[in-house]
Amino acid sequence: MVSREVEAIFARVLDHVRTLDPAHARRWFEDLHVLRLDGGSLGIGCPDQAQLEYLQDQCKEAFIRAVQQVTGHMVVVEFQLTSPGAVGATGQSVATLGPRLHPDYTFDNFVVGPSNRLAHASCVAISQSLGATYNPLFLYGSSGLGKTHLLHAVCHQVRRAAGGAVIELLTCEDFVNRFIRAIEEGNQAWFQSQFRGADLLVIDDIQFLSDREHSQEEFFHTFNALYNNGKQIILSADSPPTEIPALEARLVSRFNWGLVARIDPPSFETRVAILQKKADLRGVDITDEVAEYVARHVQANIRELEGALTTIYALAMTERQSISLALAQRAMEGQIKLASRNITITDIIAVVTRHFNVRLADLQSKRRSQSITEPRQICMYLARALTRHSLEEIGGHLGGRDHTTVMHACTKITGAREADPKMKALLDELTKQITQAMQS
Ligand code: ADP
Ligand code: MG
Repeated sequence: MVSREVEAIFARVLDHVRTLDPAHARRWFEDLHVLRLDGGSLGIGCPDQAQLEYLQDQCKEAFIRAVQQVTGHMVVVEFQLTSPGAVGATGQSVATLGPRLHPDYTFDNFVVGPSNRLAHASCVAISQSLGATYNPLFLYGSSGLGKTHLLHAVCHQVRRAAGGAVIELLTCEDFVNRFIRAIEEGNQAWFQSQFRGADLLVIDDIQFLSDREHSQEEFFHTFNALYNNGKQIILSADSPPTEIPALEARLVSRFNWGLVARIDPPSFETRVAILQKKADLRGVDITDEVAEYVARHVQANIRELEGALTTIYALAMTERQSISLALAQRAMEGQIKLASRNITITDIIAVVTRHFNVRLADLQSKRRSQSITEPRQICMYLARALTRHSLEEIGGHLGGRDHTTVMHACTKITGAREADPKMKALLDELTKQITQAMQS
């Protein structure tokens, strides 16, 4: 058992985490318990594997900073899996049981509306009897409409139902990369056996198979092996099978064998309900008025809806205020202006050159030192994110570079943004400065 004092410190740490990283803080953090605080290490127990992985992947930095703020010391933070209810139990090391699932992406947290009813119902049906209803299930829709969420929800459900079903969940890119690596290492047989032993194979964003002949061939055989054994296959893509470019006809036809379900952009009512659900997940209260205001202004993409919520929540946290309509409006001003006024590459270059203390001529030059390359790539990334310019046009502004260079820069900075919280903070800050410059 830990002392009251340690419990109190832990409560303050959780408070700090909420302020430091509102985007990742969740209501269920209340269920975490402190296992120990000694010798420069804080042990935190968590009863759920998906939550544990989420904490390790997304929240470690915020916890370390929070403990430092509360105790004044650098402390190592360790998350451990504890059996449910066993508060204070010594944590076991983490056995990785199947694929990594996002703890938010469950059926409980999915709001059903006319735009996604069929997709949702088919996922629920499948999770109740693998291989027996729709096989394969093919979900498609634009980015940010909940495909990945539904795929994870099926896996959560199947895992929870126990029975030891073998689940393979991966993105198509993972599939392709693992396949390529297996070939390089001469491990092809092992690669095949891995997927062909699955009871449920879920591949997200299958459109990445386009133009990958060898991977398509391999996937074709995997598909057949599983299908013929009555195993369940679920696929998602940004377009229906027939519209995925350069996809072999035999795959297109197989993808159409089962059920093809489309997800449409959500209606206003669904957007409001999703916002309420997301706020609740984060342990935040928002009024209907605020939810409706946001839902009216952000329409196409649910990821952006969530982003708006994060922006509002972050402002409320920094100003230590509750979330009123006025605060929401203020928080979203930048984002809404962004949509209605056009940011130019010149705006972006002005902010980036100022921040890095480099000259436009440097960015346009052939110089390839890190101190020039990074700001140049960041300019390209931001131009892609904040303007409607084509890759060629962006390259043109930055010394006549071709579109593949710009694309490479965007991929690289996107990767860095995901891997490195500092890069994410930097990009957020630059974006803020650019939008603020627009308003002044
Ligand atoms: P996609 O894979 O289609 O690009 P995601 O599944 O990644 O989209 O969804 C983007 C975000 O929107 C996720 O945070 C997800 O939880 C959320 N989301 C999408 N649809 C819903 C819904 N119907 N209810 C709740 N959250 C949703
Ligand atoms: Mg997705």
